[in-house]
Amino acid sequence: MRQIAIYGKGGIGKSTTTQNLTSALGEMGKKIMVVGCDPKADSTRLLLGGLSQKTVMDTLREEGEDIDLEDILLPGYLSIKCVESGGPEPGVGCAGRGIITSINMLESLGAYEGDLDYVFYDVLGDVVCGGFAMPIREGKAQEIYIVASGELMALYAANNIAKGIQKYAKSGGTRLGGIICNSRKVDNEYELLSAFAKELESQLIHFVPRDNIVQRAEINKKTVIEYDAKCEQADEYRTLARAIDGNDMFVTPKPMHTDRLEELMMEYGILG
Ligand code: ADP
Ligand code: MG
Repeated sequence: MRQIAIYGKGGIGKSTTTQNLTSALGEMGKKIMVVGCDPKADSTRLLLGGLSQKTVMDTLREEGEDIDLEDILLPGYLSIKCVESGGPEPGVGCAGRGIITSINMLESLGAYEGDLDYVFYDVLGDVVCGGFAMPIREGKAQEIYIVASGELMALYAANNIAKGIQKYAKSGGTRLGGIICNSRKVDNEYELLSAFAKELESQLIHFVPRDNIVQRAEINKKTVIEYDAKCEQADEYRTLARAIDGNDMFVTPKPMHTDRLEELMMEYGILG
């Protein structure tokens, strides 16, 4: 079983990419669980056809410790197992804490047993807050992919995440498997992201184009794979899935100084 965490700046496309990627892996016959680790609890919406999943944290608050796996785990598209960890009541407590509570609850209810090939954690934001580093801090996820684009703030966040991975790679076995570019149609974006990944001593594992079919599928509460299996964008997610399934490049990333990051952006003509 491979446990994979997907990190990246808010709004960059983590949940969209994770759900399409897991759908593509599902088509390949893989058994998958997706654990949403964002208090927004929208990590599995497209897999569940818009059904609003009751979060682990809400279930614990309302029903106490005595809960069944079926209360917090719903089967979605291609039988992908869907969980939303949820968060504390707004304004109270650390949102990251919910993640580890949820993982512990899933473990004690036997969610990781059986023939799972992959567990994906779709994690909010960057790892500046220790709570969101939980999946890697506790050694749950061994493998990380960072979703980024050619925009400065996306790369800035990606670099921060690389710092977090570097920090926890020392104590645990967590490694960076690559950068996923979710294109914002920035000039020279492919070249920039390739150079950025190389600078981290990692790789650009796939360049996912920007395509409005993603929005059309989203309005219909579906992944692109389910909404229009034959479209080009669906094939992009399949290519990403194959790349991750066959990946053998796992590194402790070498994050860069902000100066170097800005220099890189200058070189590719983004800030120039
Ligand atoms: P995150 O989980 O990182 O906060 P989301 O997956 O919710 O981000 O994506 C934010 C928005 O970007 C969504 O409304 C989604 O439709 C859109 N989006 C994501 N990826 C693409 C893409 N490749 N092409 C077009 N729109 C995209
Ligand atoms: Mg999300």
